[in-house]
Amino acid sequence: MTEKSFKGIPASDGIAIGPVFCYIPAELTVPVRATGSAEEELARFDAARERARVELQGLYDSIEKRAGKEEASIFVAHQEMLYDPALEGKIREFVEIGQTAEQALVNATDELADLLASVNDELFAARALDVKDVGRRVLRILLGLPDTALGAVAEPSIILAEDLTPSDTASLNPSLTLGFITAQGGLTSHSAILARTLGLPAIVGMGINLLDHVYNGAFIVMDGRSGEMILEPNQETITRCKQIKAQRESQLQILKSAALKDARTAEGRRVEVAANVGETASALNAIEYGAEGIGLLRTEFLYLEDTQPPSEEKQFRIYREIFEVMSGRPVIVRTLDIGGDKPPSYLPFPDELNPFLGWRAIRISLDEPELFKTQIRAILRAAIGHRARIMFPMVSDLDELRRARDVVEAVKRDLKSASVEFAADIPVGIMVETPAAAVLVDVLAEASDFFSLGTNDLTQYTLAVDRGNAKVAALFQPLHPAVLRLIRQTIEAGHAKGKWVGMCGELAGMTKAIPILLGFGLDEFSMNPRAIPEAKHLIGKLTDDKAREIASQAMSLGTAAEIEKYMKAVLAELD
Ligand code: PEP
Ligand code: MG
Repeated sequence: MTEKSFKGIPASDGIAIGPVFCYIPAELTVPVRATGSAEEELARFDAARERARVELQGLYDSIEKRAGKEEASIFVAHQEMLYDPALEGKIREFVEIGQTAEQALVNATDELADLLASVNDELFAARALDVKDVGRRVLRILLGLPDTALGAVAEPSIILAEDLTPSDTASLNPSLTLGFITAQGGLTSHSAILARTLGLPAIVGMGINLLDHVYNGAFIVMDGRSGEMILEPNQETITRCKQIKAQRESQLQILKSAALKDARTAEGRRVEVAANVGETASALNAIEYGAEGIGLLRTEFLYLEDTQPPSEEKQFRIYREIFEVMSGRPVIVRTLDIGGDKPPSYLPFPDELNPFLGWRAIRISLDEPELFKTQIRAILRAAIGHRARIMFPMVSDLDELRRARDVVEAVKRDLKSASVEFAADIPVGIMVETPAAAVLVDVLAEASDFFSLGTNDLTQYTLAVDRGNAKVAALFQPLHPAVLRLIRQTIEAGHAKGKWVGMCGELAGMTKAIPILLGFGLDEFSMNPRAIPEAKHLIGKLTDDKAREIASQAMSLGTAAEIEKYMKAVLAELD
């Protein structure tokens, strides 16, 4: 067989070699067929239900091993639902009026789910989704289809999918995932960000017919640095890729040991280099790569991994664990940034034409005060004795910021009157990720203790380019002069008000941007942990004067392409 090469958008560094697991969320349609007797149809349902129970038990065992009893408990609830007398009674009713097991199952789960959803309560809404999920599982078994969900990956594989939602990505088993490739998506789509955080090689935006070319079990090599995927590679290619992989690993090891020291410019000025992380394991990993703190603790995955929001106790435990792992280093906890491409199942999301411009981030927190207060309580309690800060996402004016701060103050009053201990003097800041916030930094400084630039959204909103749309990925240019002007303006306005300005968007970890950002006077660079060693190495080669000169030269150019070209030359000269 001759090897075939494909090219996509390089999204997360690393080479992976192995078999493919094609993730295709199955379209389940109920076939029209002659009905058997009621007993026969019920017997078919019973058999499928038993197989579903075994599958769910398997999922429970594997998640319990990886993440503990609490995380796995959803699969116990699903097993119980299979034997729910209300569901069983309805299925019997439908079968007795002449429906097939498949029809009866779909009708019964739909009816039950609608009933649950009609109660205006988040918990009931979540139950409705569970009922549908359980129904889909049994229906798939009745239709004789294999489990193509991510939970079915059984050997270390490269995952191929049309697209991966952040919750799909969060449910990948790291020990069985060598990397992933998607047909859709862009460099800053959340699955790409998560891949970088987890250190998983990833390629996105490969093109819509990707899955027509590759079959389950096909052997491939992928390079997340170049964006290349080779199908059915020959022995020579495999050997070459293994060599490159080993070379890169040893280079990284050399930089990694140097990165354990604090970052300093060539003349010795301290610059903070921190990590973006989503959970305890990546916090540990971040320290190994030389993180001096966490510039962005993404709490959204906690909200996406389950069919109900995380309890205060669960959040308290996880935040405290991360603060302890970071032992005295600063940690910026971003409050829930859901919506956009990250809608959890338990909130009543409207159909949105433009989800990224819709019900998202701080807007949800302000509309759902109980959800928001629970998180703030957990952070304030866990932060005692640690250097934690709270950061709100997607703020666009002072009114929003004041209302969010009022919630923090209200929670503090509640905790105080209940004599619960908490960190009273925790700094509270915002992400600058809407052009409105960037323009208003001097005004927002009244109520923000610090700022952190979110260049993924700032680029998307400034340039009106969807960050997850492969078709316009080439237009997603964080080095666009308009974006750079907003970044410079944010840093200057923040400093003029005596505020610390960091950056936790992906741009902070890109070598082609670091000299410019250093020249602008950015206080902190927060990035995926694996990018830290190289970033520190580069910062160490630059003096402040040199960085300022590079920044001013870049700002004199009129297009992103010219700036990219100039920065390529700068990096080649520094090498
Ligand atoms: C950003 O927008 O730059 C950011 C860091 O947040 P997220 O990527 O989670 O939207
Ligand atoms: Mg953002």
